[in-house]
Amino acid sequence: LSAQVSPSELGYEGALRPGSLEEFVGQAKVRRQMRLLLDAAQIQQRTPDHILLAGPPGLGKTTLSMIVAAELDKPLHQTSGPAIQHAGDLAAVLSALTPGEVLFIDEIHRMARSAEEMLYLAMEDFKIDIMVGKGAGATSIPLELSPFTLVGATTRAGLLPNPLRDRFGFTAHLEFYAEDELESVVRRAARLLRFDIAAGGIEEIAGRSRGTPRIANRLLRRVRDYSLVHEVPGDTESVRAALALYDVDEHGLDRLDREVLRAVVERFGGGPVGLSTLAVSVGEEAETIESVVEPFLVRAGLMTRTPRGRVATRLGWEHTGIPVPDAL
Ligand code: ADP
Repeated sequence: LSAQVSPSELGYEGALRPGSLEEFVGQAKVRRQMRLLLDAAQIQQRTPDHILLAGPPGLGKTTLSMIVAAELDKPLHQTSGPAIQHAGDLAAVLSALTPGEVLFIDEIHRMARSAEEMLYLAMEDFKIDIMVGKGAGATSIPLELSPFTLVGATTRAGLLPNPLRDRFGFTAHLEFYAEDELESVVRRAARLLRFDIAAGGIEEIAGRSRGTPRIANRLLRRVRDYSLVHEVPGDTESVRAALALYDVDEHGLDRLDREVLRAVVERFGGGPVGLSTLAVSVGEEAETIESVVEPFLVRAGLMTRTPRGRVATRLGWEHTGIPVPDAL
């Protein structure tokens, strides 16, 4: 139960997506900032500034891009950094945009370099230069674009080159959700699914959702399955039983979270250990550890980041079940 989405869950996620800023749970500051940006643009009859959404997976970046389009009553074109391998891929997308359209680029930090440069000009002046021909005979043809709003998403704003980051009028940093917010997410989803779940069950799910709405919704789905199959009510007890079946621990840590924490404690004596060494030891990309796993471990108080590397806290040691050294 990681924060990544499988294709079979897309329909389920779609059904639970809030459709307006008011329905969007939590992130109060981001919602206020976004409301102002959209309202100001509406008054001035122009496209809103480009928006960068930064934060770990499953916190609502795609949902917010859909909300921006819905609030502006404009179509949304969705693509992603990995799908833009050449400047030509981006040129094709940009030249097909209709006036005021919202362009969502997920994982924008993974876009090809050549496309990035094209995007600078497009964001600033709604123009691009298309290269025609090769070598000495190559010429560039300027092309006017329809005004559009770019909504970029990235797991960490720091992964973007400065010139790109600077061209966004507004950067929203999405934070992990508090437990009461996750309870609202679960309550809302249960209502939409017409699943009768007790308050204690909702709390239990919220406490194990890793601060992430996507995970909260997914756990709810597993609990609903469990309750259906075993013909039991959605109470605290069945939530615990269902989640134990899926290996979700009481902090909501997933497999990779636990592996990383275990590696710090077991293989590196609790740290400090450098990011790249840690990544190699669990067989993951450093970027994933840094922008997906680490933020939650730090926020849960299980690990800290120091200038010399990552260090497991006392709570982190306790979580692995390995005896805590006296020095801690
Ligand atoms: P991201 O793009 O950041 O990975 P998504 O926007 O795809 O995350 O959100 C994942 C799921 O979590 C969606 O199904 C959405 O319904 C739910 N979700 C995310 N944020 C919220 C929120 N603030 N309120 C209610 N549901 C949310």
